[in-house]
Amino acid sequence: MRTHGKAGMWGTPDLAVRMEYDSGKLGVEHKFGLRWSEMSAGLQVMKFGGTSVGNAECIARAAQIVAAGARAGRCVAVVSAMSGVTNRLIEAAKTAQGGGGEAAADAMDSLREQHERALRELVKGEAERDVVRKKLDAVIAEGLRFCEGTALLRELSPRTMDAISSLGERLSAPLVAAVVRELGLKSEAVEATELIVTDEFHGGAEPRMEETRKKSQARILPLLERGVVPIATGFLGATAGGELTTLGRGGSDYSATILGAALDADEVIIWTDVEGVLTADPRLVKDAQTIPEISYREAAELAYFGAKVLHPKTLRPVVQAAIPVWIRNSFAPEKLGTKITPDGRSIGGGVKALTAIRDVTLISVGGPGIIGLPDVVGRTFSTTAEVRASVLLISQSSSQNDICFGVSSADAQRTVEALRKEFASDLDHHKVEHIRVDPQIAIVAVVGQNMCGTPGIAGKTFAALGREGVNLIAIAQGSSETNISFVIEEQAVVRALQALHGEFGLGK
Ligand code: ASP
Ligand code: MG
Repeated sequence: MRTHGKAGMWGTPDLAVRMEYDSGKLGVEHKFGLRWSEMSAGLQVMKFGGTSVGNAECIARAAQIVAAGARAGRCVAVVSAMSGVTNRLIEAAKTAQGGGGEAAADAMDSLREQHERALRELVKGEAERDVVRKKLDAVIAEGLRFCEGTALLRELSPRTMDAISSLGERLSAPLVAAVVRELGLKSEAVEATELIVTDEFHGGAEPRMEETRKKSQARILPLLERGVVPIATGFLGATAGGELTTLGRGGSDYSATILGAALDADEVIIWTDVEGVLTADPRLVKDAQTIPEISYREAAELAYFGAKVLHPKTLRPVVQAAIPVWIRNSFAPEKLGTKITPDGRSIGGGVKALTAIRDVTLISVGGPGIIGLPDVVGRTFSTTAEVRASVLLISQSSSQNDICFGVSSADAQRTVEALRKEFASDLDHHKVEHIRVDPQIAIVAVVGQNMCGTPGIAGKTFAALGREGVNLIAIAQGSSETNISFVIEEQAVVRALQALHGEFGLGK
């Protein structure tokens, strides 16, 4: 009943065999159904987000999914920290920096307890528990030393922040591996410092794919050969010199596709707490629904523009090898979720989904003095690049009076400071009149690959907004024509989304 070969040749749902796992052994009464045809016989890389490993019950469920994958083919799992843990670690690091060494140590203790509790619920044998406990204790002990050092020096370098903020993944991976072993498989936790080689940019490192390929194949393939299911830590990697780095907040998705590409996986499955990619945020638009298949382009646009299902860089590593990526709900594994493929499936109309990002800030650099200044654009965006602020939208009118762009609000302050420095003398000499900041805005995007070449979509979009009385502050459409985005006042977002969702018939 297995479907063999490359992804894309998946069995149809009616060929499906229901696999039922009784997790009574785990002390968690939970029946679990997953269709065999959804599990490929090739190599799968599966990632579990924070909520999917959020407590003992969730970890049990995740382990069952991993086990099902490993029984059907070869499977590598990538795990996030238990939900909330990374935030608490970052908090503890900052507390330590402020001199609160003891409070930071207390935070470490409470993390130890939380993982210890999950361990007791999930692993029955005392000997097996001991093995895992030793690992957890060693990681916590490291964390305590980092916090102590930070409190002593009252200094928190990006490097130390990486070491502290990544402790959560180093705690969750051994737990998940232990539970997979409880299900009768061989499994081992692997720290991604042994797999993913990155540059030295702490807090947002980029992978070096060639080295990552060599390193991860050398470490993972022998495990798979011996029938061991590797459970890798998400979020982190290491420089060529062995210094631990992190890939940025939410980076475990990225870890999964980096490993998927490095290991030539047949598919990557992102197990999360939502049923795939939706036509709009269901909290804002009631009749939003799951999109069965979308293209890399569409998914990237959606990730970029705040659908928040995927880390924005997630698809980069898999595009070249055309590895499909699934987004599925670990709390409802019987549902298929969304499949992301090179071309997506084309469904009529052109528009696939709407997104909105609200925690954005609009920055404008301008004034009449910039007309004809040839280097303002260049300098503006080399400055944003220097501070690694990701620019979400750019708009410049042909009068050249003003360049405005949107960045995530988290990046806004350092971007503006850097711009004021860069343009200090121009501001003094009134070549640049202002660098202005507006945090009360939102960016809404209408996304669809087949919008390309379909006339009238912009017209419909803006007509619908006009009818709703939504004021447009700036507009941008890339020449790829797969996205029309616009800036509006934050308080108009819900109205705008509902009007457009109806306009393009995206509802159920
Ligand atoms: N644990 C990390 C974070 O919360 C990475 C992730 O979950 O993807 O940012
Ligand atoms: Mg996450």
